[in-house]
Amino acid sequence: MAQLTRFSSMLRAALDGGYAVPAFNVYSMESIMAVFRVAKSLEAPSILALGERYFQNMRPATARALVDSLLQANALDNGCCQIGLHLDHAIDPLSCNEAIEAGFTSVMIDTTHLPFEEQIRITCQVVEDAHVKGVEVEAELGGLAAGHASHEFSTGVETLTDPEQVHEFVERTGIDALAVSVGTVHGLYRGEPHIDLKRLEAIRSKVSTPLVLHGGSGTPEDLIRAAISRGIAKINVNTEVSLAAIQRLREELGVRPDIHMADVSKITIQAMEETIGDYVSRFNASHRLHLF
Ligand SMILES: [Zn+2]
Repeated sequence: MAQLTRFSSMLRAALDGGYAVPAFNVYSMESIMAVFRVAKSLEAPSILALGERYFQNMRPATARALVDSLLQANALDNGCCQIGLHLDHAIDPLSCNEAIEAGFTSVMIDTTHLPFEEQIRITCQVVEDAHVKGVEVEAELGGLAAGHASHEFSTGVETLTDPEQVHEFVERTGIDALAVSVGTVHGLYRGEPHIDLKRLEAIRSKVSTPLVLHGGSGTPEDLIRAAISRGIAKINVNTEVSLAAIQRLREELGVRPDIHMADVSKITIQAMEETIGDYVSRFNASHRLHLF
């Protein structure tokens, strides 16, 4: 049976290849199918990221079963694709355990609201539970501001990552990827984006761990490239994919007020696919299937 692809393998290949693995938030059959189809057609290693805040939409076990069925159908078709299944922003370690049990390839524990020592303690506990099952862990230092239409539960107070804390945090926790706060925002930018590339360079000089950029929506291509060349191996996108689907549905509902839900589902997937494809290209991730 077709397998999911290991998180660190995808991220290391991206670091070596000068691109970023796109991680798209998923919360429904439509969002999962849209990412899957683009990953397949553009031959782009891709990560499906179910947030803890979307557990009311879909539990990890359901997401895993749906992804498995898509991988299986694709394998029967002799298709080739590389997919990771990731838990995004979990505040509660129990959510990480649920995703680990469900067979996710990676989990993100978000302890950014806690003091440094407490962050280390909780992250260590998640790393221990995850690694024993072959699951890998992302954690974050610092915090992102909340932009327009942000769908995160974080406080939205921006705290840029302190490069002086990075080495100790990575060493003591044993995490596999580090999310950094260098000026991107969750949601859409309210003005011109300012990415602190000097800070990113300082962080990179402290650790060789793959770095993750959250808040990819709306980040201009030149800044994305600059971030990739400074160690960013995964970029998260959420808001813009949802906004693209909503905009398309608004148009369709305007002309077809009695539209059937089955068509709403198809239109949603199509609109999401277009935006997802744009981001895959922006991250330079097309035609990047590697043999691990
Ligand atoms: Zn995030």
